[in-house]
Amino acid sequence: MTRWLDRLKRNVAAGIHVICAAVVVALVLSNLHVLDIAARIADDVRAEDERHLVRNEIDRQVEILAHDQSQISHWDRAVRALVHRLDWEFVRTEIADWLWEDFGIQTTIVVAPDGMPRVMVLEDEIRTQAEAEEYVKFAGDLIVAAREAYMERRLVRGDGYVVAGNPVRSRAPIFVSDVRMLDGGFNMIVAQAIVPDEDEVLPEGLPHVLLTLKPLTATMLTDIGMKLGLKDFGVQPAGSVPAYASRLPVGWAGGDRTFVVSWAPSYPASVIWAKALPLLAGVVLVAGLALGLVAVLYGRVLRRLQISEERSHFLAHHDALTGLPNRLRFDRTLEEMLARGEQDRCAVLCVDLDRFKAVNDTYGHAAGDMVIRTVAWRIASAVGERGMAARIGGDEFIILLRDGLERDAVLLLCDTIVESVCEEIPVDGGRASVGASIGVAWWPDDAVTAKSVIRSADEALYQAKKDGRGRTRLAGIPPARVPVAAGR
Ligand code: GH3
Ligand code: MG
Repeated sequence: MTRWLDRLKRNVAAGIHVICAAVVVALVLSNLHVLDIAARIADDVRAEDERHLVRNEIDRQVEILAHDQSQISHWDRAVRALVHRLDWEFVRTEIADWLWEDFGIQTTIVVAPDGMPRVMVLEDEIRTQAEAEEYVKFAGDLIVAAREAYMERRLVRGDGYVVAGNPVRSRAPIFVSDVRMLDGGFNMIVAQAIVPDEDEVLPEGLPHVLLTLKPLTATMLTDIGMKLGLKDFGVQPAGSVPAYASRLPVGWAGGDRTFVVSWAPSYPASVIWAKALPLLAGVVLVAGLALGLVAVLYGRVLRRLQISEERSHFLAHHDALTGLPNRLRFDRTLEEMLARGEQDRCAVLCVDLDRFKAVNDTYGHAAGDMVIRTVAWRIASAVGERGMAARIGGDEFIILLRDGLERDAVLLLCDTIVESVCEEIPVDGGRASVGASIGVAWWPDDAVTAKSVIRSADEALYQAKKDGRGRTRLAGIPPARVPVAAGR
């Protein structure tokens, strides 16, 4: 857990950079996602609107045709001239001249109740029965539907039948219509029973039906497309419409629905993207710069904090003058070592400089500091990898020996320390000279706890001082050896 926390602390600056980068990436992705959804919705809504527009426009064109043809099919005169008898003069003037010339209705056929054509006019020419029969067959279903519509809506008046209201514009019109391909061209087709508009009545039975066809020319389609603001507007077989094009099936009253009106869709999404992308790029740039700045500043502050924390930690465990471990670190190291049972044996050496006060008095406190630093370095060098040397007070040092614990080896080390400490130290204004006294205790030979082994070594040091300084004393053993440096 602590290791994990340490690693986290070390990587926290890098972590902030990663988090800031992730925020920018998330910002970009979320905005792109929202834009994408908005663009798709805009495209769908626009496509639906265009379909409505096209449907209304084509319905309107068919309704115009139905209205134009009802000028004849909803007229007392037509009932008299086409239903009660066949008036060729009426056919010529009202159908050939009027419907074709004025309304562009290309084909008009009067279909009798028995389903046979009574008369057919193509543009301004009266055509043969055989030709008319082809058309009747082609639009047979519409004729049947027109008859049914009439039969459902007819009302009795006097000794016959009429249809109330306008047969085209009423809520339940009696005309039926479709758009169908004939001779390679598309035609709007309207079929409606011939009904009276004022005084005439129709006899019992099926009505005569007026069948009219008006070509849906390329010009008409282009005009519709232009009017609705749609490109590539046209009618074509469903299978030949490219996949990207918008389409709407044409064919009413159950007619042939394999033809569609198609046009090139307008894509509002492209406008949305074109407008929003530069804005998004700007927002992301500003956010990226702001977050980048935050990351850099935070990273710098964190690094400083980290360095300061590491320094505080070092100072809490080290002596500021010499850089050696301090008392706290020494005690912890010894206690932890004993607790872990890493060593069978170890030795503690307490070292105190002899007559150090005189250095301070003679050369000043700064020179005294220099002497302490030099001596500290000499002691630490003498101990080397065998253990750890710490400064625990003014001129007091303590050594934890893990290696070379035989009595002779330890005494030799003590001699080396005393000798090296005794070497003169050049200071400002002369050469300082100090000695060292050492007390040694072994764990677990002399004491079994960390505190007691330090105390034993300290008591031995006291004894060394008492015996004249410049020497080593072993815990619990009377003076047995005169150190090499003694007497200097
Ligand atoms: P002894 O031989 O009995 O050990 O006497 P000594 O002169 O070495 O004096 P002692 O060990 O009793 O006291 C150590 C002195 O070291 C006390 C103090 O004036 C001095 N001292 C303590 N800390 C520092 C320090 O950080 N720098 C300097 N320059 N002197 C210090
Ligand atoms: Mg001293």
